[in-house]
Amino acid sequence: MREDLQELLFSEEQIQTRVKQMAKQVARDYQEKNPVVVCVLKGAVLFMADLIRYMEIPLETDFIAISSYGASTKSSGVVRILKDLDRPIEDRDVLIVEDIVDSGLTLSYLRDSLLRRNARSVKIAAAFDKPDGRTVDITPDYSGFTVPNRFIVGYGLDYAERYRNLPYVGVLKPSVYEKEKC
Ligand code: 5GP
Ligand code: MG
Ligand code: MG
Repeated sequence: MREDLQELLFSEEQIQTRVKQMAKQVARDYQEKNPVVVCVLKGAVLFMADLIRYMEIPLETDFIAISSYGASTKSSGVVRILKDLDRPIEDRDVLIVEDIVDSGLTLSYLRDSLLRRNARSVKIAAAFDKPDGRTVDITPDYSGFTVPNRFIVGYGLDYAERYRNLPYVGVLKPSVYEKEKC
């Protein structure tokens, strides 16, 4: 799969080092709070697993799935809950764990939806942030890496459901997209 990449942006080692740092910071902030850490499926699965593993504080996990790009690389702007949280979050400190913030539409919808359930607090940890893609005003409280306005894959991020299992992140060769069109 490495040969499908045009460019490697973040190595496995860089990602692990940064995620450990983030986990320490998050753990300090949530030490006494027993937070509900919410993984946004499916892109945040690898980040979630690493982040909570390195946090080393009491916490609970839950999972939510919302509609995303599908096989396209552009945001549809349509956000829909496909799988909701299993448990109520009233009066809980919630940390949303997301793969990447691009337009910000997904997260802004999700944050509002969780706040309406009377969570005590809702914060966002994103592995990657693409500030140039933003159409709504939202900034992750914790962000791993700032990335240029390009479509990246790996570390949970897919193209047509592939490449999520890469432990590193990069940009696909144009020939990969061209093959799909035939
Ligand atoms: P937003 O609503 O912020 O525009 O988009 C968020 C979602 O779009 C992300 O959670 C992710 O699933 C997808 N997305 C945005 N940028 C990228 C990217 O560069 N690569 C991949 N694979 N998915 C992306
Ligand atoms: Mg996502
Ligand atoms: Mg996707």
